[in-house]
Amino acid sequence: MIAEKSRKSKSISIGMIIGEHMAKKRKEVVIDDQWDVTALYPSLEDWEKDFSELTKNRTEKGYWPHLFNYQGKIRQDSGTFNSLLDAVLAIKRRLDKLYTYTHLRHDEDVANEIYKEAYDKISFLYHDFQNETSWVQPEILQLPEETLDIYLKDAKLESHHIYLKKLLALKPHTLSADKERLLFLAGKALQAPQKTFEAFENADLKFGMIENEKGEQVELTHGSYGLYLQSKDRTLRKNAVFGLHRRFQEFENTVSELFNGQIQKDIFEAKARNYSSSLHAALTPHQIDPKVYDNLIETVRKSLPVLHRYVSLRKRLLGYEKLHFYDLYVSLVPTFEKHYSYSEAVQLILEAVKPLGNEYCQILETGLGEKRWVDRYENARKRSGAYSSGCYDSLPYILMNYNGTLRDVMTLAHEAGHSVHSHYSNQCQLFQYSNYPIFVAEVASTFNEELLFGHLMKSAKTSEERCYLLNQKIDDIRATLFRQTQFAEFELVTHTLAEKGVPLTAASLKKIYRKLNEEYYGPDLVIDPEIEVEFLRIPHFYNSFYVYQYATGISAANALVKRLRKEGDKARKEYLKFLSSGSSKYPLELLEIAGVNMRESAPIQTLIDHFSELVNEFEDEFLTCV
Ligand SMILES: [Zn+2]
Repeated sequence: MIAEKSRKSKSISIGMIIGEHMAKKRKEVVIDDQWDVTALYPSLEDWEKDFSELTKNRTEKGYWPHLFNYQGKIRQDSGTFNSLLDAVLAIKRRLDKLYTYTHLRHDEDVANEIYKEAYDKISFLYHDFQNETSWVQPEILQLPEETLDIYLKDAKLESHHIYLKKLLALKPHTLSADKERLLFLAGKALQAPQKTFEAFENADLKFGMIENEKGEQVELTHGSYGLYLQSKDRTLRKNAVFGLHRRFQEFENTVSELFNGQIQKDIFEAKARNYSSSLHAALTPHQIDPKVYDNLIETVRKSLPVLHRYVSLRKRLLGYEKLHFYDLYVSLVPTFEKHYSYSEAVQLILEAVKPLGNEYCQILETGLGEKRWVDRYENARKRSGAYSSGCYDSLPYILMNYNGTLRDVMTLAHEAGHSVHSHYSNQCQLFQYSNYPIFVAEVASTFNEELLFGHLMKSAKTSEERCYLLNQKIDDIRATLFRQTQFAEFELVTHTLAEKGVPLTAASLKKIYRKLNEEYYGPDLVIDPEIEVEFLRIPHFYNSFYVYQYATGISAANALVKRLRKEGDKARKEYLKFLSSGSSKYPLELLEIAGVNMRESAPIQTLIDHFSELVNEFEDEFLTCV
């Protein structure tokens, strides 16, 4: 019931830090360029009023003492049970609204103390809510089978049936109340590997200065790393990659132990909850068949020669004798310098999504325009990157730092995909089923990117433009399908070894990681010793078995666009139904509504074939554009 607060992010913190002297102050930004937060609360005073109202019954027991009156009583009758669930949902819904307002306002200007304080206040309250309702799920699961059977047939409880069914599916993995309490108490200590990694990586570790090809010293940070990696300056790229990874090498034993600690945590939790493996524990709550995971790795592995061919082409086109990891992100063609105004971007996107029909286009047109979903441009101390975020009672907001590049147009199309998905699900589902799961989240966004790519390719006037687009697309698929699958395989291999009792040391982990790199990239990429420790710096590895969803997401989206182009109206209607379904079903069932079965290898294979075709097309086009 207590779902994660949703924020779907395209690019996190890669944007440059904006000097205050260069960008507008927040209060100078014209209204039309801002998202419409007044649709949530007219002012901070109204927010505060709502906050006080929600917390006014606080006693020493907690903020919502009336909830505790239900403890031990939910087996009495369906009416009591129903009113508990409704009461919990009502609080959650208001918390979401309060939270959304402050996080948006906080991101407009992260140095604004007033909103930072409000944001902290609601974050704490959210935590208290989770504490005060932590007894609800275990108590439901302790209900006798007969009672649950009756509740599942009771019309009064109809709106909660899906929730109950999903909860009951986890019954074999839910423990007795005292054991659950023990696990809850251990929870904070078990977070130590992740928390330590975050503190080490974000706060303690510094990378210092590195040299570019002109001999100038520039600062290497997490933010600048991504930019340097795309630079035409090879010395800078090399120094960035080596500089960053050598710092991790210095601490390779320590960070390997952290990674190991995370794996041991996963194994402990899986065993405690009667799962057959840590992978099983990660997938079961969403009823993801382990076949989906295995299929992904197997299908990508079989097609690795396709990636090898691209690596080889990259080496040839860059004209290097040897290709290194630091040569993988630089564009192969000159940057395409066309500038798109915000309204030109909107027009392009609207043209691109036309195959989704009038209604979709209209929702998007007003959203990106007069309804002001979007906070368009950068301003001093605004959060960098881009995301789509909101709640059941808000607009599906989009944060952008729109600068007019083609990349920005793509990002806007991506975030718009998330936002229309939220719009449809909020309109068509009850609050408790409106928030779509992560497994399907990247489908709607990548779908729009793919439509836009197709549209841009069709309307491109020069070979230079086509080359640039193809290059971008190929590198996108490489990073999302191949690289994330490589990560997913690394997670599976290391967890499986640990489950068999094989000790994981820095040396053995580096060996595994090197081997995967050699196999994925093939003979044309030199794997420098620095790359062997790359796994030590990947934050996602502290959220185990997560990244594979990027790879399955892009595969599903690609297959669905293909289907829409081939089958037209039927495919369109089913896709819109999927967008409207929120979390009313399990993720694989949701995608089946749209017409793609992720238990099969076909969608992944289709994307690999597409990648292969794009590489061929790029190679041909390249000869004419340089
Ligand atoms: Zn996204």
